[in-house]
Order: sequence, then structure tokens, then C-alpha cells
Amino acid sequence: MSTFRFQSLKETANRKAVEVKELDKKSIIFGSNVFNDKAMRQFLTPEAYKAVQSAVQHGTKIDRKLADYIAMGMKEWALAKGVTHYTHWFQPLTGATAEKHDAFFETSFDGSDPVEKFGGSQLVQQEPDASSFPNGGIRNTFEARGYTAWDPTSPAFIFGTTLCIPTVFVSYTGEALDNKAPLLRALSAIDDAATEVAKYFDKNVKKVTPTLGWEQEYFLIDAALAASRPDILLTGRTLLGHASAKGQQLEDHYFGSIPTRVLNYMRDLENECMLLGIPVKTRHNEVAPNQFELAPIFEETNLAVDHNSLLMDVMQKVAERHFFKVLFHEKPFKGVNGSGKHNNWSLATDTGVNLLAPGKTPMSNLQFLTFFINTIKAVYTYEELMRASIASASNDHRLGANEAPPAIISVFIGQQLTRVLEQLEDVTNGKLSPEEKTDLKLNVVGKIPDVLLDNTDRNRTSPFAFTGNKFEFRAVGSSANCAVSMTTLNSIVAKQLIDFKKEVDALIDSKGLKKDEAIFNVLREYIKQTKAILFEGDGYSDDWQKEAAKRKLSNHKTTPEALKAKVSKKAMELFESLGVMNHVEVEARYEIEVEEYTKKIQIEGRVLGDIARNHVIPTAIKYQNTLIENVKGLKEIFGKDFEKIAKEQIVLIKEISAHIEGINTNVEAMTEERKKANNLTSAEKTAAAYCDKVKPYFDIIREHCDKLELLVDDETWTLTKYRELLFTR
Ligand code: ADP
Ligand code: MG
Repeated sequence: MSTFRFQSLKETANRKAVEVKELDKKSIIFGSNVFNDKAMRQFLTPEAYKAVQSAVQHGTKIDRKLADYIAMGMKEWALAKGVTHYTHWFQPLTGATAEKHDAFFETSFDGSDPVEKFGGSQLVQQEPDASSFPNGGIRNTFEARGYTAWDPTSPAFIFGTTLCIPTVFVSYTGEALDNKAPLLRALSAIDDAATEVAKYFDKNVKKVTPTLGWEQEYFLIDAALAASRPDILLTGRTLLGHASAKGQQLEDHYFGSIPTRVLNYMRDLENECMLLGIPVKTRHNEVAPNQFELAPIFEETNLAVDHNSLLMDVMQKVAERHFFKVLFHEKPFKGVNGSGKHNNWSLATDTGVNLLAPGKTPMSNLQFLTFFINTIKAVYTYEELMRASIASASNDHRLGANEAPPAIISVFIGQQLTRVLEQLEDVTNGKLSPEEKTDLKLNVVGKIPDVLLDNTDRNRTSPFAFTGNKFEFRAVGSSANCAVSMTTLNSIVAKQLIDFKKEVDALIDSKGLKKDEAIFNVLREYIKQTKAILFEGDGYSDDWQKEAAKRKLSNHKTTPEALKAKVSKKAMELFESLGVMNHVEVEARYEIEVEEYTKKIQIEGRVLGDIARNHVIPTAIKYQNTLIENVKGLKEIFGKDFEKIAKEQIVLIKEISAHIEGINTNVEAMTEERKKANNLTSAEKTAAAYCDKVKPYFDIIREHCDKLELLVDDETWTLTKYRELLFTR
């Protein structure tokens, strides 16, 4: 009997929902483990408090003496909460988060005077021995030094007994070695650009903050069952497994009642989130069995990105307490829906206005249209870069796989706004007559709020959709760090707004147009230029593939193809001109991602080869031997008549042999292709070979294994089956 599988199933069958300790009301516990405004007021001197505020709002530097005071206050606050260690918490280019804990505890060299210490220098800068993080050649091995520097815009927090200080990770030559530093630069770029444009409409605007509200999808699998599958353990997904007779076809899981064990997990997780100041709000079942979603209230983008990264870490830790494993992989199971991470994005002014929400006056609606159309133009111009920003080996399973947005980037805006844009296309070139202005203000721009009120059409197949007061970037992968797509989106819109401002100012200066006339004129041209990116139809259809090709939109179905846009001249110029990344930083990231792709496929290939040969084939042979024994026995009893009586068994024996043969030849061929790919001269070529030559074997090998799963006696099958993984909870 296949003991591991059945032991795991037995363990799972005996599970009870883990009780969750009730905490105080959410509004009371919210942020109590965060060094937030309230804690700062309590633990910092007014001078130190002001210094942090000014650093957060205006990016001013904090001098050494004040840093000492801030550190002291932070330490007092943390010690009062039972904290023993501190860490600089950062986001290296692995996509995950990293931390190295140091105790506050110190003694003199002879062991006397034990004391808890934490000074400004420890708060502000640290040098983790981080030579093993991917750096894409930025640091050669001689100069394997990078340092982490405090990011005061994301507040320190306590997790467990550790004080975590969000930091950027940079090399000593100043290049960003992480995801956060470029993000912060992109946020600053869009702040500058959007503030300038917002001033056309309101002189009082001094700051524009991009907002992000992510929605995180995930699968929850019993820990014992997950551990029984080597593919889940090593790759985060199932590389084989026959479909369960029941999958998601009855649609009985979506928004259904949440199973108790899961609900307790969610409650526990939400408590942790509350303490950490992550404002989670929504929880529900998703489409696939054992798939769920969680979403917070939106926040400033840097903080939202940190919160998502932190959440993914916390989710896994809380899951351990409940004997679950969280799968963030975009496609853990074949044949049922995959997971995404919708990134809802907008722009907010320091005067309290959402720039992507229509207002009450014609002027505020023109402001809305300005940011709305500029965003569309940015996506049109940089659609390839947008696609590249969400590319990964795991997200390839989703994009274009007829369930998630396709690999073609397009923008959905709904029928009503489409009509508004059509009307704006007719705006007169140059000066507008008073009648035309009145008509525009009353009948086109002025009608927008009403129009949006009943804008009910929602298109779930669109990768980038306008949803009333924000855009939703739906093609982001569930396992991704939001920083990458958010750096890209905010950069392209920043660049676009800079260009827009130049064009409008030029019309005002050279043609003597009024401000609103100039804006209408530029927007009209944008609408005409960017039509190709707007698409309201079914993104999964074949027609759209053809239509998009006609429109010359890119359609990169694989990561190696998609990533190339990251190092295009256009992308380099974009990031360099905005000061978001220099060419070394861009190239380094490209190199890391290309190599990461290769490694992921390489690991999957090895694991699949291993499972197919060392689990599936031996199991199949064992069962085949049983059949052979049976046939032999029948022959003994029935003599020459046995062939008729043992007919089915003989067919089975032959079928099993054919599949074993299929597995063996294809695993060998795949291994050969891996060898060839490894010997290619560039990382790019290797990645392409893994994609085009190695990966295609996965499906072929899987097919043979899955067929065997159906033939072989259930008792002998060693791998936990889909129905068990998906329906045990
Ligand atoms: P849905 O899109 O599922 O119908 P909502 O429109 O209520 O649900 O919101 C979805 C997500 O969008 C939530 O996570 C929310 O925090 C986020 N969101 C709402 N407004 C904004 C905004 N102005 N900026 C960024 N995210 C937002
Ligand atoms: Mg949504």
C-alpha cells in the first residue's frame, strides 16, 4: 500500500478546526503592532516626531542625532511589547522578503553590563551579508556588498518578537538591488508629473499619491497532503495528476459558505493583519475548489506593496498553525481556475480628490478625463512593457490560458465612456466657439457622473479595466511582488503626463489657446491615436487574437519573449529619463528574470522526470505484475481458453507497457534537451530553449502519467490525487 499518501489522508481526515483566540474589536487592535502616528507621538520627542513626518511627506533627510532619538523611542516602544530582536526588512530581487535578526541585547567585551541597545546607526543603515541574493552582475563577487537603508515612508512593525524596519537594498555604488528602491523613485516621478497636471485644475494641489488596492487569490491545501506531493513541495504546483471527476463545473464553491477550518484560518489571519495594520476587509471563496480571495482597503502604493509582501509571508505562517499550506502559484492545478492578484490603481491628491473619479463640475470632469485618457495613452504606448512587468514562468500558465486575461494588453472602459471618447473626437481643431464649449461642458463632460452611475458592464476578460473610479490591472500573477508592475505602471503614466503637459503648454504658448481648449485639443488627438488599445469584447476569443494582431498589439505568450521589452530602447529611455532605473539596473533585472525563468523550468523538468520515473513507473509495474500473476493463474486453471478470459487484463498489461515506454523515451528526450539548453552561449538562448524545447515535454509526459493513474489500482497509487487535494478541507 502507498503508505505516505494514505497516512496523509488519514491525518487530514482527523483534523479539527483550530480554535482562534478572539481579540478586541478590529478598530481597537488595528495597527497596535505598528510604529504608527499614535505610537510615534507617544514615544518620540516632538522634534524627532517632526523629523519623521517631514521625511515621510517631503523626503527630507534625518540627521544622525535625531536618528538616535527616533531609534531610542522605537526601541522603548518595541521592548514594552516584549520584542527582543530587530531586523531590516527588505525585498531582494527574488521577489520574496528577506530579514536577518539581531538582538537588542549587548554586553561589554568581558560579558559585563548586559543591556538592550538600538541606536540611530542601526536604524538607518545595515549591511546584511547578502552576497547570495541575485544581483544581475551589479555587484561582482569582490564587491559583494550592499546595504539596507531605512524607508521611513513605510512604518516599522512587530512580527512575533521582532521589530521589522522596512528598508531599501542598494549596492555601495548606489544601484538598487531590490524592488522597493525603483518603486519609490517611480512614485516620486508620478507625484511630480501628476501634480503639475493637476495644477491646471486646482492650484492648491501639492502632492499626488498613487493608491493601490490589491486582491490576493490563493489555494489552501491541507499541509499533510501538500507535503505528500513532491511537485507541490518543490515547485508550488502539481506537475501531474488526473482531473478529479468533480472540479469546478457545478460552480458550487464560488462565494459559497466558507468551510469551518478555512474560516478559522481566515479569522486568525485577519487578526494578525489587524495587529500589523494591514486593513483587510473582504474574504470569500473563489471559483476553483479550495481557492479563496482576500482584499484590503486600498492604501498609498508603497505601503500597499509592503503590506502585500508581508501578508504573503504572514499567510504562510498562520497557515502552519492551522495545518494548511498556502499555494500562491498562478496555476497549481490543471483544469481548474488559476490565481491572480488584481491591482486596483488610482491617483489621489493631497486635497482629497481621486483623479480617476468623475467630479461634480465640468472642470473636475475634464480633470478626470485628462488623467483617464492619459492613462490609456500610457498603456497604449507601453503595452509591451506592461506585459513584461507581469511575466513569469508561473504566470505564463494563466495569461492566454482562457480563464485569466490574455497575454495581449488592452484597456476596457465600458460602453458609456467609449461614447464619451467618441464625442470628444469631434472637438474642433484649435480655438473652440463659445457654443461648442457650452455644449461640451453640459452634454459631454457634464454628463459623465450620471453615465458612470449606471455603468454596470464588467468585463472579466480584460487585463486592464476601468472600474468607475480606478483602473484594475488584472493580469498580475498571484505570486508576484506588486512592486514590479506598480513601478512600471506609475512610470509610464508619469512619462505620459510629462509629455501631455508639454503639449498643452505649447498650444497655450504658441497658438494662444485657452487652457481648457488646449487640453481638449490634446486629448482629442490622444483618443484618435490610441484606439487600438481599447477593447470591449471577449478577451479569450480567437477573434481577438486575430484582431489584436491586425491592430499591431503585442501577444507574447511566453516569458522569454515577453521579457525582451524590458531592455528595449524605449524602456531604457523611459526609466532613465525618469530616474527610476539606470541602464545597469534595468539590464540586471532582465538578466535575473531570464535566469529565474530557466531555473524554474529546469526544476520543474527535473521534478517531473523524477516523479514519472521513480513514483509512477514503479507503481505501474507493481500493478502490472499483479495483472501478470492473474493472467498466469488463469492460464493454469483454464489452459488454452485463458486468452478469452484474461482478455481485458492482457489489454491492460499492454497499455501499461506502452505508457511506461512513453514516459521513458520522453523523459530521456527532455533530459537531452535540458543538456543542450544548458550548453548554449547566452542566458537568453538558454531560457528560450527551456521554453520551446524542454517545456513541451511536460504535457506529453504528464499525459502518460495521468493515463496510468486511471489504469492503476487506487490502493497502490502513491501520489495524492486531485480529488483529495482539492476537496479535503
Ligand atoms: P470589485 O472590483 O471586486 O467589485 P471594489 O470595486 O469594491 O470591488 O474594490 C476592489 C478593490 O479596489 C478593493 O481592494 C479596493 O480597496 C480597491 N480600490 C477601491 N478604490 C480604490 C482606489 N481609489 N485606488 C486603489 N484601489 C482602490
Ligand atoms: Mg476586482
